[in-house]
Amino acid sequence: MRIEKHSILPFKRGRKIKKGALESMKIGINNSLCSGCRVCQLICALTYEKANNPKKGRLEIIGHFPVPGGYEIKMTDECNQCGECVRFCPMGALYREDEE
Ligand code: SF4
Ligand code: SF4
Repeated sequence: MRIEKHSILPFKRGRKIKKGALESMKIGINNSLCSGCRVCQLICALTYEKANNPKKGRLEIIGHFPVPGGYEIKMTDECNQCGECVRFCPMGALYREDEE
């Protein structure tokens, strides 16, 4: 199946996706740019779980407050590096390493 660069992937709810099966990029992380908006988690959850629930996304946004005061982005083992979250991150905290 050919996957268009800007398509929302048509996976069914609950379907397991083998890690690396759709790997097309290496995703870079810049924690210092993250605003904690959780758009990335929401997009991932909508794409793979058809769920309007950021907690179901395949990445974690961990707040470290009050000190040092910022967010940490962590991809889970379920992440297949598809890049949907990269496209929607408004802060550039996620990026394609091949486009650095
Ligand atoms: S790259 Fe990983 S975290 Fe981001 S949308 Fe794809 S599966 Fe989800
Ligand atoms: S990585 Fe981007 S989309 Fe995700 S919480 Fe941080 S700023 Fe928002």
